[in-house]
Amino acid sequence: MKEDKDFRSALDVKKGVNQPPFFSEEVVSDHKKKKKRKYTAQEFYQGIISGDRIILSQAITLVESSLPEHAELAQEIIRLCIPHSGDSIRIGITGVPGVGKSSFIEALGGQITSAGSKLAVLAIDPSSERSRGSILGDKTRMESLSSDPGAFIRPSPSAGSLGGVARKTRETIVLCEAAGFDVIFVETVGVGQSETAVHSMVDFFLLLMLAGAGDELQGIKRGIMEMADLIAITKADGSNLKKAEMAKAQYKSALHLFPPSPSGWVPDAVTCSALNRTGISQIWESIGSFVELTRSKGWFDTHRREQSLYWMHEAIRSNMEEQFFKSPRMKSEIEETEKLLLEGKLSPFMAARKLMDCFYAKKC
Ligand code: GDP
Repeated sequence: MKEDKDFRSALDVKKGVNQPPFFSEEVVSDHKKKKKRKYTAQEFYQGIISGDRIILSQAITLVESSLPEHAELAQEIIRLCIPHSGDSIRIGITGVPGVGKSSFIEALGGQITSAGSKLAVLAIDPSSERSRGSILGDKTRMESLSSDPGAFIRPSPSAGSLGGVARKTRETIVLCEAAGFDVIFVETVGVGQSETAVHSMVDFFLLLMLAGAGDELQGIKRGIMEMADLIAITKADGSNLKKAEMAKAQYKSALHLFPPSPSGWVPDAVTCSALNRTGISQIWESIGSFVELTRSKGWFDTHRREQSLYWMHEAIRSNMEEQFFKSPRMKSEIEETEKLLLEGKLSPFMAARKLMDCFYAKKC
């Protein structure tokens, strides 16, 4: 068949008209400029206090960064934000993986945002480095809360020691408060490491427990139970309801054995179900009563001041430790002293003394 340039078949694709870009060029280039632009501390601060979530997220990323130039900018932003912080209620939520933390946070969080309050959910996950984390913090967890305009979810910073991660979370609290969040949840996995750090940065500590998971009182360390302002037995629904009620009674009597808290608050045990949305409002009411009581007694503010002192001491400790162990001149000195210690030529305390003298005298 003769090739016919003008031959038209039904399969011919017409050239058609040029499609306009999906996004306006102007918007795209504006966005790129915005992305590339480096904000000053003052611009970050203005963005944060006006409630700009993107700027808030970028500032948190700076706080989490280990680059020295980021650290300097982050500190300046925090300094500017501090006068606007302190107005939220900070709540620590802990429990073993699978206890129902994210389901509970979704249930209570939804209630808080529907009442018109703004909620930030932060996470501390000490296992994140080794096992890629039990708190994923991604969109598959807390699905409805992550699309709730009243909520802001920030997963755990993934790098660094527990102390470092905890410090970053504490600084993130300041930024979130300056951005106008009324309630801050700090979630952690109850594996016995991070609870103390969380306890030292929150006003109220909520421990979630499973019923019938082995010996009721052995599941979680006594020290963690002692920190709790409220123990909530989760999944109190269906065939689990009876077991949950029994666990509640056991925890209630166990709580009586602890010495009274200096806050004047008497910790309690309750049951709840995120599935059936039962017991959730009562927990929120209980938190409200706690805040009312401790504020009226002045303990709320005293506790926060004590926490600030604790964090100052922690910061000094970690800075000094870092300077000591990261000092190039100490490296060979430490190795040498370790050898002497292992050969039995020095006691551990003599070895430590020798190294400290060396560090401060700058002789080595
Ligand atoms: P997390 O690991 O502590 O965050 O726990 P999740 O919230 O992811 O919950 C772990 C499992 O328990 C999931 O399969 C949930 O569906 C289930 N779960 C959570 N809350 C409830 C509840 O109130 N009732 C019941 N029956 N199951 C629940």
